[in-house]
Amino acid sequence: MHFPLFDTHTHFDVPDFDPDRKELAQQAKAVGVERLILIGFSESRFSDLIDTQHQLSRWQDVPISYLAPGLHPFYIEQHVPDHLERLEQILKQESCVAVGEIGLDTFLPQHKQPKLYLKQKQYFTNQLDLARQHNKPVLLHIRKAHADVLHILKQQHFKLGGIAHAFSGGIEEAKAFIQLGFKLGITGQITNPNAKKLHRVVAEVGLEHLVLETDCPDMTPLCCQQSTEHRTRNTPVNLPYVLKGLATSLEIDESIVATKVWENSLNALQLT
Ligand SMILES: [Zn+2]
Repeated sequence: MHFPLFDTHTHFDVPDFDPDRKELAQQAKAVGVERLILIGFSESRFSDLIDTQHQLSRWQDVPISYLAPGLHPFYIEQHVPDHLERLEQILKQESCVAVGEIGLDTFLPQHKQPKLYLKQKQYFTNQLDLARQHNKPVLLHIRKAHADVLHILKQQHFKLGGIAHAFSGGIEEAKAFIQLGFKLGITGQITNPNAKKLHRVVAEVGLEHLVLETDCPDMTPLCCQQSTEHRTRNTPVNLPYVLKGLATSLEIDESIVATKVWENSLNALQLT
């Protein structure tokens, strides 16, 4: 039994998928992945990101794909002001569903240094402005910086919402993002019984505010990490495992979870 699913966070454009993207896209569609988002992280990848979306839209029996270009905080050293102009040009020329992924990331010690962290904040703020000018939601990447991201969203009066991807915060932070109009992106992490914090967050916020993502090629669901070689790889084909993991965690029937997260995805992205 397959349910219509929306993979709200993929890097399906990256070269890992060049040899068999078409086969994987067809397999994904065959297991119910009806739509997916191609997400940006660095200007150097923008043209491949767009080409991949054009390619997917020409193929038969593959998911409908959407673009969300953006400059990722983890790659902050690479970004220069011209890249914001390129981003704006893409927002004008291509049919983009969101700006992403953007946010703050202080996982690496060097990113906590005032100069680089300030640069992350500036690029985040500038991209929120672009999102507002183009009336787009945003796809947030946040690592060890939830309070600052919330602060900036409030300070900027950002009202278009979007998705806080691969959500890793606590219950209070989850509620604060929801309050600001965001859905929380659930990855294959949910298939890990030891991800206690995530299971608590999901139980507390409930189905109303969740969407699914593979975050491929990162974040392989636990169940897909063992055994055969192709199971080890994370691709949009794994999205049904994320659904199953979420249904198990919530103790709600998979079909009910599937229907609701589909609806949540469309709402978060202003799609019909
Ligand atoms: Zn990502």
